[in-house]
Parts: sequence; structure tokens; C-alpha cells
Amino acid sequence: MGYNQQQEDTWKHLNEHISEWVEESKQHTSKGLVASYIPELANAPQDILGICIMDASGNTVVGGEFEFRFTLQSISKVFTLILALMDNGEDKVFSKVGMEPTGDNFNSMLKLELVEPGIPFNPLINAGAIAISSLIVGNGPKEQIERILLFFREIADNPTLEINQDVFQSESDTAHRNRSLAYFLKHNGVLDQAVDDVLNVYFSHCSVDVTCKDLARMALVLAHDGIDPIRNQRMIPRRFVQIAKTFMTTCGMYNASGEFAMHVGLPAKSGVSGGILTMVPGRYGIGAVGPALNRKGNSTAGVDLLSTLSQAYDWSLF
Ligand code: GLU
Repeated sequence: MGYNQQQEDTWKHLNEHISEWVEESKQHTSKGLVASYIPELANAPQDILGICIMDASGNTVVGGEFEFRFTLQSISKVFTLILALMDNGEDKVFSKVGMEPTGDNFNSMLKLELVEPGIPFNPLINAGAIAISSLIVGNGPKEQIERILLFFREIADNPTLEINQDVFQSESDTAHRNRSLAYFLKHNGVLDQAVDDVLNVYFSHCSVDVTCKDLARMALVLAHDGIDPIRNQRMIPRRFVQIAKTFMTTCGMYNASGEFAMHVGLPAKSGVSGGILTMVPGRYGIGAVGPALNRKGNSTAGVDLLSTLSQAYDWSLF
């Protein structure tokens, strides 16, 4: 059987089975909890699950509540990392953040004090992503936020992406821990700008509203090493996509990144809103959402559905 025929068969099979798989995985929503430490996020429904899978021509397979809107939260960190790399190059970025998983919680400040030189361990934990926000080129936070939003819109091929002001405000009002992280970073010489300005940028990019289709579209560009296969245009240098995918594999699913690599085996990033962005390299971009989270902070139903799909089609890279 030729490669194209096999691809077509997979696509057909996906279309036929996605609804039943979503229904099965949806049962896992009852095992999780919707994030509430950002009060606005607690309004999300507990029992939904949605998915969108996009191929290189932009065809989609969708299932469940795929039209549900949610904020990017930590998924945005993948793309601010890429923009910071495009703005500053690799050497400058990795003088401010490290390259290793922490084994600590996403909002931990433990190692900032314990391990010299007091820079965040990687760009996907909160401390690292706050440091990355400070590296985005722009004359002040307003311009930095505008550039980030333009970049996200460009990669998602969606000019309507906007910041959800309610979520932004809710996080800004309650982010005592992130504020303390940022002050710590400022003390350690990691941030050049004022703490409030950097946090303004960070909360803004976490608060961009998306759907599963936006995630799938953004993931598609990563799946094709920075070339958008639909517009046939290079959006991101290959090296920077390689860096992003490496971090997604080693740290993208919080402290369950090893477990996710075992069961799904694809580069992925999740966020506390319940979104997961992942991809089948060279083939599909995938976006999923299920706001009920497990204790590690990942969507219970989303992870279950991705495990089912990966095992059914042998998608693991390992
Ligand atoms: N804005 C969230 C925070 O800083 C992002 C966390 C996440 O999605 O992991 O707490």
C-alpha cells in the first residue's frame, strides 16, 4: 500500500471514529477539576472535550465541543519562546533561561534560589516564560503585546485572535505567586524592564482566546518545521521550531511530560485552561480542549483521547 493511500485510509478512519473516541474519553472529565486559581477560568464547563486535527491542506477532522473558546495560557509560551528566539537569537535567550526540566511545579521558585546562577530552568515553566516575555522586542509593554498578538495571528492564520480582557484582569488581580517569581527574577538580574511591565506582557499572551482549530492551525506550522504547508511559506526558522519541539517533548506537559512521552509520544504543550497543542510531525496539527485537569495540570480527557489516537495510528515518535 502506498504512503498516500495509507494517509487517506487514516484520515477516513479518523473521520469515522472520532466521535465515538471523544465520547469514550469524555468520561475522564469527571476525574479532573477545572482550574480555579485564576477565578475567571473556574467558569469553564467541567464535562466537555473537543478536538480538531488538521492536515497539510487544511482539511479538518473535528469532534466533541471543538468550537469551545478558551485562553491559550501556557500554550502561548511555545510561541513567545519562538518569537524571542527570532528577535534575539539563541545565545541571548539561553543566557536568561536554561534547557532542563525541573521536576517541580510549573509555578515553583525553589530552584531559582537553590541552583546557581538563579535563572529559570527552562522557558516553559512560569519563571522561564516571564523571562522570555521580557525579551520580546518592543518599545514598552504595549508594543511588545501588539507584536506577540500579530505573531500569534500570523501563525494561526487568524486575524481575529484577541486578548480575553476578563481572563487577563482576573489573572492580574490574583497572580501573587507569579509576581513574587518576577520580583525574584528581577533581583537575580534576569529582567531588564520593570516587573509590572513584564507581567503585563506575560498575562496578556496567556489570555489570548482560541479554539481547537486555532491550536491545530498553529501546530500545523510546527509539524512542518516552520513552513506553513497551506500558504506554502516559511513562518519560523527551522532551528527555532526544533528548539520549541524539544522543550515541548521534555517539559511541555508539566511534570507528566515523561508519562505523556510514554503514552502519546508527540511534542505537546498544555495549559491550565485545559488546552493541548500537539502534532504528528510532517503530517497533522492537533488542538484539543477539556477544562477538567488532573493533578499534574493536564486535561484528563484530552490526554486520554490523544493516547487513544496515538496508539490507534502508531503516532509515537519513539
Ligand atoms: N497564566 C497561567 C499562570 O501563569 C499559565 C499557567 C499554565 O497554563 O500552566 O499561572
